[in-house]
Amino acid sequence: MTIDLRSDTLTKPTRGMLEAMWAAEVGDDVFGEDPTVNALEAKLASLFGMEAGLFCPSGTMTNQIAIKLNTGPHQEVICHKYSHIYLYEAGGIMTNAHASVKLLDGPYGKITASDIAAAISPDDVHACETSLVSLENTMNKGGGSIYTLDEVRPISSLCREKGIALHLDGARLFNALVVTGEKPLDWGAQFDTISICLSKGLGCPIGSVLLGSKQAIKRARKIRKSFGGGMRQAGYLAAAAIYALDHHVDRLSEDHTRAKAIGQFFEKHPLVSEVFPVMTNIVIARLQGISPEAMLEKLREQQIFAVKFGPDQIRFVTHLDFGDAQLEEFGRGIVGINV
Ligand SMILES: *Cc1c(COP(=O)(O)O)cnc(C)c1O
Repeated sequence: MTIDLRSDTLTKPTRGMLEAMWAAEVGDDVFGEDPTVNALEAKLASLFGMEAGLFCPSGTMTNQIAIKLNTGPHQEVICHKYSHIYLYEAGGIMTNAHASVKLLDGPYGKITASDIAAAISPDDVHACETSLVSLENTMNKGGGSIYTLDEVRPISSLCREKGIALHLDGARLFNALVVTGEKPLDWGAQFDTISICLSKGLGCPIGSVLLGSKQAIKRARKIRKSFGGGMRQAGYLAAAAIYALDHHVDRLSEDHTRAKAIGQFFEKHPLVSEVFPVMTNIVIARLQGISPEAMLEKLREQQIFAVKFGPDQIRFVTHLDFGDAQLEEFGRGIVGINV
């Protein structure tokens, strides 16, 4: 049995999801005529209390659109130095928005209102104007760490007071909400734009949705077109997303339980010096006495696949296709990995 925990994007649609896709009513979404896409956008927007939504092919596109909406030349986005928007979107902040970036540090990939307050550029001819702050929840490179509403509210107030837009890269926001029990409506109230991935833990083949005001999403639609992201009968994909929102949100807690079990396998492992606190479906292990490449090779010999995630780290992500049988197999495989 192959156990592939390189990412939660590796899942294949379930039978129920495929049946929902098969049954979808579709139209041309560039004309705004795909009823299933429209239904998905409205469903997520109303869940988060936002005015409108925009279905896009990827989370990178939703983030890049949000950045371009709120920044441009001579402006900057403030984010954590481990943010997906900075590390993993091919330098798009520069190429798409022609904007600069100011990187902050903080434990487990998180930043605070006081970090941000200290980093906002002064109103000065020399400075690059701060026009956007971007947070990530859950924080991928922080080990799937979680922001709570209590942490986000002061950031949101600060941004409003300073006239700075606030974006949430919520690729795995539902993973966080399943843990905290916080309400999507309360999250929607804190941000100008939120990006939600459907192709991660929710198990869809493709798709992300950007949420925001009517005015922002109208402009976002034009930016999406210019990025080549206007899709036609995209309702087949939106149907998968609606199915996932109805069937795959609550079950994310199972992924979290299995991730915790993986973390425990490594707690006392001689080749692991530290396991990041396992809050959601991501497990990051810091290695000792072995390189990530050599460790990944040992894992591969046991049919277990993970990724290198830094000079001395590897990452596992649990998902819909990793059940209890796979977890047992994983446990047996780890026993076979010795110094
Ligand atoms: C996966 C991911 C994205 C978007 O990735 P795509 O592969 O472009 O869909 C954005 N942010 C975070 C934190 C992610 O993990």
